[in-house]
Amino acid sequence: MTFESLGLHPLVLKALNDAGYTEPTPVQQQALPAAIAGRDLLVSSQTGSGKTAAFMLPSLHKLANVPAESTGKTPNQAAQSARSRGERPRFMPARPKMLVLTPTRELALQVTTATDKYGVHVRRVKAVSILGGMPYPKQMQLLARNPEILVATPGRLIDHMESGKIDFSALEILVLDEADRMLDMGFIDDIERIISKTPETRQTMLFSATLDGMVGNMARRITKDPQLIQIASAATRHENIQQRVHFVDDLSHKNRLLDHLLRDTNIDQAVVFTATKRDADTIADRLTIAGFAAAALHGDMHQGARNRTLNSLRRGQVRVLVATDVAARGIDVPGITHVFNYDLPKFPEDYVHRIGRTGRAGRNGIAVSLVNHAEGVHVKRIERFTKQPIPVDVIEGYEPKKTAAPARRPGWRPGDGRGGKPGKPGQRSFAKPGGAPRKEGSGYRSERGSRGDTRRG
Ligand code: AMP
Repeated sequence: MTFESLGLHPLVLKALNDAGYTEPTPVQQQALPAAIAGRDLLVSSQTGSGKTAAFMLPSLHKLANVPAESTGKTPNQAAQSARSRGERPRFMPARPKMLVLTPTRELALQVTTATDKYGVHVRRVKAVSILGGMPYPKQMQLLARNPEILVATPGRLIDHMESGKIDFSALEILVLDEADRMLDMGFIDDIERIISKTPETRQTMLFSATLDGMVGNMARRITKDPQLIQIASAATRHENIQQRVHFVDDLSHKNRLLDHLLRDTNIDQAVVFTATKRDADTIADRLTIAGFAAAALHGDMHQGARNRTLNSLRRGQVRVLVATDVAARGIDVPGITHVFNYDLPKFPEDYVHRIGRTGRAGRNGIAVSLVNHAEGVHVKRIERFTKQPIPVDVIEGYEPKKTAAPARRPGWRPGDGRGGKPGKPGQRSFAKPGGAPRKEGSGYRSERGSRGDTRRG
């Protein structure tokens, strides 16, 4: 299947050509024909699958074909002509044709950037982000341009909607991106309120890691005869990402091991996930003192500081980003070769999202979790969810005192590095704590050459 064969608008095809996209990804292959035909969509697909283009390309196609608004004037132009007549400008609300709701500011900005890229030749169609943390006057300026596309987080959008700055009566397309996460974050009432102000005739596309439970209920309420597309569940196998667990005895052991792992010369860029914002700051400071180009990213930082950090990451000036889940969601930087879980996430779904920060754009990646002995049960939950065993690894000089070796050696050979394959399904991934420490090395890439085969017995 090619993009041309789908009948996309020539200006959209031109942008895809500029971007170097040669063929649609699997989610795009299923979503594009249905969305172009005007169907509602319910899509569960993994992050990094090309889902943004899956909803944005058909929307731009549609908006590029729609004639401009009959009024012809943006609120800015209307205000100017009122002033030239010596009248006080009458406030005109923005009347977007498309709304994309996202759980986080980062994802909203990423969607807006992608929209600018895919819509670069559809000049008449403008997209703006309406986000919490952005100054109101700036947002009022953006809304006054009467953009066709709004990309927004629900809370701030409600403020503008309820104060009459946005009118959704002309809305044609509604997208809920990462709907499961929006519900996890407690946005259900806001989402329902926003949807109640949009026309019944709209096209609705919902993207989510899962379509079960609460998301499924909401999806049924807000879509009409939707096309169901399930590319991979949230428990996606991430087969291009090697996963491993290191057991640690205590915090000092964990910090020493992290410092050692981060010195692996195979790391281009890494994300270290922490459970708390405070830890993100503390660890970033500690790593900076230790000589790493490290920076923290979390929800307590001002939007400007978050954007600066993300830009430095994209430019490669930050090599180690220490982040919390919400702040790091949606980060799409191809240079990220490694993800480290300094703390395990609360939910297995978050583990899948975290490790998906590496192995982007068809590359390989490595995901390493540093786990206390008591957290073995959480690793098992993650393994059950992803249906993949996570091999335990041990590095010479950093052996935990309390942990047993894996019942079987990991599914890759030492020195395999990023090209190796994860353990086979059904393989025992880690033994119960309390056994004899493993003497031999880890097979971790940084240790390559320091020992021979790690095969036991
Ligand atoms: P997403 O899942 O929307 O976050 O997209 C993941 C990455 O895939 C982004 O960097 C996109 O630019 C890229 N991408 C999306 N569609 C295609 C395509 N058809 N061909 C190549 N890359 C793509």
